Amino acid sequence: MTKIAENVARIRAKMDEAARACGRDPAEISLCAATKMNDAESVKEAVAAGVDCCGENRVQELLQKQPQGAYEGVPVHFIGHLQTNKVRQVVGRVDLIQSVDRPELLQCIEKTAEKLGLVQNILLEVNIGAEESKSGFTPGQTMEIAAHMCEYPHCRLMGLMAIPPISVEPGGNSKYFAQMRQLLVDIRAKKYDNVHMVCLSMGMSDDYCDAIAEGSTMIRVGTAIFGARHYDAK
Ligand SMILES: *Cc1c(COP(=O)(O)O)cnc(C)c1O
Repeated sequence: MTKIAENVARIRAKMDEAARACGRDPAEISLCAATKMNDAESVKEAVAAGVDCCGENRVQELLQKQPQGAYEGVPVHFIGHLQTNKVRQVVGRVDLIQSVDRPELLQCIEKTAEKLGLVQNILLEVNIGAEESKSGFTPGQTMEIAAHMCEYPHCRLMGLMAIPPISVEPGGNSKYFAQMRQLLVDIRAKKYDNVHMVCLSMGMSDDYCDAIAEGSTMIRVGTAIFGARHYDAK
């Protein structure tokens, strides 16, 4: 077994344990490999090891690795900050844009998808820790946009995504995860048109078990699959 395959197997076991510990079916929770800064070969190993989907942060990396067949066999998602001038390169190329974090981006995706004659699946990114350094909607704005999703017929809102603050203690993000879960439930209860609150994307290498305990349906894991990223290498 490769190191990556070993890592994926270990994460799967921990996901199963975390799910069972809170009475959830492990099959409800998918594993998204956060592939930034890892090459196509490593990504292929993760896919072969059974991750459910891949999440890419940068348009340039997506455009590079996709023709190399990096994601072949699984859906690919966009999970990074997306500039409006790069939307054209992403819409229709990915199964889900998880990181819709501002109104201009939503409008731009809508226009682009309309031109291409397709419907783009999206998540709204919530700045659940109200951090100035992070983009994303407040819970109130998220509710407001969900209420108006019928105005975006070329987007399909599938759920919510969050990156909570960096936690200093174990379990430190549980309250944010719980708030996200509540927001998802509240929006779902409204039964808004064009809103399908099925995906709650939260939990990363350090806190995915806590996220699962609070209702995550998709964890996004990079470091625990691929090892530490070397930011100075580029
Ligand atoms: C990098 C990244 C992850 C994964 O982070 P790790 O701590 O390496 O698991 C998850 N989500 C997003 C949006 C990311 O950019």
